[in-house]
Amino acid sequence: MRAKQFFISTQKEAPADAEIVSQKLMLRAGMIRKLAAGVYNYMPMGLRSLKKIERIVREEMDRAGAIELLMPIVQPAELWQETGRWQKYGSELLRFKDRHDRDFVLQPTSEEVVTDIARQEIKSWRQLPVNFYQIQTKFRDERRPRFGVMRGRDFVMKDAYSFDRTAEDAGKSYDKMFEAYCRIFDRLGLVYRAVRADSGSIGGSRSQEFQVIADTGEDLIVFCPDSEYAANIELAEAPCLIEKRAEATETMEKVPTPGRDKCELVVELLNKPLTASVKSIVLAVDHQDEKGNPLPAKIVLLLLRGDHTLNEVKAEKLEALKGGFRFATDKEIEDTFGSKPGYLGPVGIPKDVTIVADTTVANMSDFIVGANEEGYHIRGVNWGRDLREPDVVADIRNVVEGDVSPDGKGTLKMQRGIEVGHVFFLGDKYSAPMNATYLDENGKPQLLQMGCYGIGISRLLGAAIEQGHDDKGIIWPDSIAPFTVVICPVGYDKSEEVQKASNELYGRLREAGIDVILDDRGLRPGVMFADWELIGVPHRVTIGDRGLKNGEVEYAHRGDLQNENVPVTEIADKLI
Ligand code: ATP
Ligand code: MG
Ligand code: MG
Ligand code: MG
Repeated sequence: MRAKQFFISTQKEAPADAEIVSQKLMLRAGMIRKLAAGVYNYMPMGLRSLKKIERIVREEMDRAGAIELLMPIVQPAELWQETGRWQKYGSELLRFKDRHDRDFVLQPTSEEVVTDIARQEIKSWRQLPVNFYQIQTKFRDERRPRFGVMRGRDFVMKDAYSFDRTAEDAGKSYDKMFEAYCRIFDRLGLVYRAVRADSGSIGGSRSQEFQVIADTGEDLIVFCPDSEYAANIELAEAPCLIEKRAEATETMEKVPTPGRDKCELVVELLNKPLTASVKSIVLAVDHQDEKGNPLPAKIVLLLLRGDHTLNEVKAEKLEALKGGFRFATDKEIEDTFGSKPGYLGPVGIPKDVTIVADTTVANMSDFIVGANEEGYHIRGVNWGRDLREPDVVADIRNVVEGDVSPDGKGTLKMQRGIEVGHVFFLGDKYSAPMNATYLDENGKPQLLQMGCYGIGISRLLGAAIEQGHDDKGIIWPDSIAPFTVVICPVGYDKSEEVQKASNELYGRLREAGIDVILDDRGLRPGVMFADWELIGVPHRVTIGDRGLKNGEVEYAHRGDLQNENVPVTEIADKLI
């Protein structure tokens, strides 16, 4: 590529509303331009890196045996109604009507559509296993789009969906994807950690996230340097939930309990054996307004402060819960958590226990609705499957470094992370409601066992920059830099020798398949260097009359920018 034929549009300053370094640098380097909140144009420079990430992901998905397809951005509501997510997904799901008044959504994810494909296409056990993937635009109407491409509303995701005969086979597909993800993030040159995670609105019983380590990450992760233990704080705050998750065999049972108060759920939970580092717990409770009228059920998260165990505070808490809540004032929340409650709404705070988050039934599981039904109680709750903490938990730092790790093998350390990938074991979560079956060897229909696997392709651009930058600009890993080599001729328009040497090197590198750009804009060296340092091209060759007289050019790596004189005859080999 020659710079004159390309589109370079760098800026000295980032827009005032840009918050974090990757966002500022992507804007300044002319990689993206904002169109609306959480909606960005990928400019030619940014698209090159995006395509490179896509390519690596595609290669590794193909290598792992997944098959690419493409599902539409627009999806009919009927499928979402079949799985119940039309009701459950909440306001991140963008819904709209067509001219015939039919409901549609913009896909935030594609479990429904791919399961619909599977139930039509997969007839026999002979077609299994199969893993479909796509690289496609997603839309999520995020509550707080921010940080540029990191939390967009419109973003690019690779999403894959595996179909197997048995849960055991599905576990193997999951492991295969896990390995593919490790290869992908290794090739991208990122420092990352795989952590246990919450299954969120995707559902399912087993899930892990891939977190790129960065101080600006929105997620808080804890890990134990002495063992394999690593988890998103959403889980780590409640290690008892992790233990419950492991017992996925338990099934929920709705038990008529006339006259019993719904706090029995709390009783059951509080009677569970607890590990030393339990710090929080999630409860479903109902509550009333001032006049005693019932309000919708709420999920509350209790955070225990200090060294209390649940057993120690049990009696007191139960009293507090049974006696009804005192609702915390906004000021109390702000004082406790350093931020305004915002969407948290009012929360109850019994003594010694802080209830920090609540959310209405609308975006919680059916279980909560069940637990709130008059005269009934739910037993056998599988915490991982049926109940989860509200998203806000990620903002709360109540686990502290040095706490005993849930596996008891050491103490916990903490890091901030950016979630760039997420793998889920789904089992029959989608195949059951959608009746997606295959015929087994005996000709009997069996439910397909599924897994799903996402990678935030566009978020990865931001994540890579958060890990690689300095005061001059971006420092890309070679694998995803928009260009691998830049040739900077000094006086390209003025010196025939410089022009000739530059064109020769450019030709040789192109022949060798190197992604090279020749800056033929005729700019002053300082301006030219500033551009490429901002854009972050890893290898720079400067060609000028003075060096050529000694038969030399200058080479600098973006990482250290130390100039090194290299004989003109050797520079191509050095870069190939
Ligand atoms: P987050 O916790 O950051 O909201 P998520 O858990 O909702 O992410 P998943 O449903 O697991 O996201 O989607 C798979 C991947 O898609 C995520 O691991 C992340 O890399 C990416 N992703 C999710 N939401 C966004 C977004 N708003 N902008 C960019 N990438 C996103
Ligand atoms: Mg999300
Ligand atoms: Mg998440
Ligand atoms: Mg996730």
